[in-house]
Amino acid sequence: MSDAQPILKVSNIESYYGPIMAIRGVSLSLSEGKIVTVLGANGAGKTTILKTISGVLDPLKGAVEFEGKSVQRMDPDKIVRLGISHVPEGREVFPFLTVRENLAMGGFLRTNRDEVAQDLERIYGYFPRLKERLDQPAGQLSGGEQQMLAISRALMNRPKVLLLDEPSLGLSPLLVKEIFGIIRRVNAEQGVSILLVEQNAKKALETADYGYVLEVGRVVMDDTCARLMQSKDIQEFYLGAKEDSARGERRWKKKKTWR
Ligand code: ATP
Repeated sequence: MSDAQPILKVSNIESYYGPIMAIRGVSLSLSEGKIVTVLGANGAGKTTILKTISGVLDPLKGAVEFEGKSVQRMDPDKIVRLGISHVPEGREVFPFLTVRENLAMGGFLRTNRDEVAQDLERIYGYFPRLKERLDQPAGQLSGGEQQMLAISRALMNRPKVLLLDEPSLGLSPLLVKEIFGIIRRVNAEQGVSILLVEQNAKKALETADYGYVLEVGRVVMDDTCARLMQSKDIQEFYLGAKEDSARGERRWKKKKTWR
């Protein structure tokens, strides 16, 4: 992205699972107050980028900077304390804890009780269903409600940067619309910068300001979302496939040269 000082900058990272190189020299940046999306087929390395930023994985090469300072090789809990919250794929809530307890876990670093109370009210405004289920174990919630709780728990840390991994996964179109509406509101109302990993390219491009396209661990294209939506390749391989993402992916993989 061309903007001044990014809040988050990833430069040339390489990350591995044992001997398997999952991302190969990826660079991207997120400007303060913006939403940036990373698109790509299954296994392209999207989740690995988020895990590398949040400290779950250490990159073998490259750099991760938050607010101009290196956060690479820092423990994940320290990265959370600095203001980066990660909502992993599969909405990992604590199933045996209640909704209320899950939210409290999200805010456990906070000391100002008034601010915590204000944030809880804001979250209930976003997701009134959570307020109705405060004393229910999180494992009993529907998939959509668990996604709402996972996002809310991350927001309870008052992050500056939110890393969202496939928030639409497995949700009905109506819930996808609701969740993406909230993502936009969190960005607009709270100024949280968001890095959004998604397979639902249409929703992601409609929601984000800027996008990166990942293929087999490499960035093959990046541009404003408005321009990506106009790109013939994006239309053919992502948007043209509409609901049939598997077919789109197969066609995507067949295309050997990108640029
Ligand atoms: P998806 O959309 O399916 O989640 P992705 O783009 O997020 O895919 P990653 O999960 O980052 O892709 O995976 C990138 C590569 O790393 C893939 O080849 C995957 O098989 C491999 N990989 C991911 N997790 C592991 C792991 N724990 N052990 C070994 N290889 C892994």
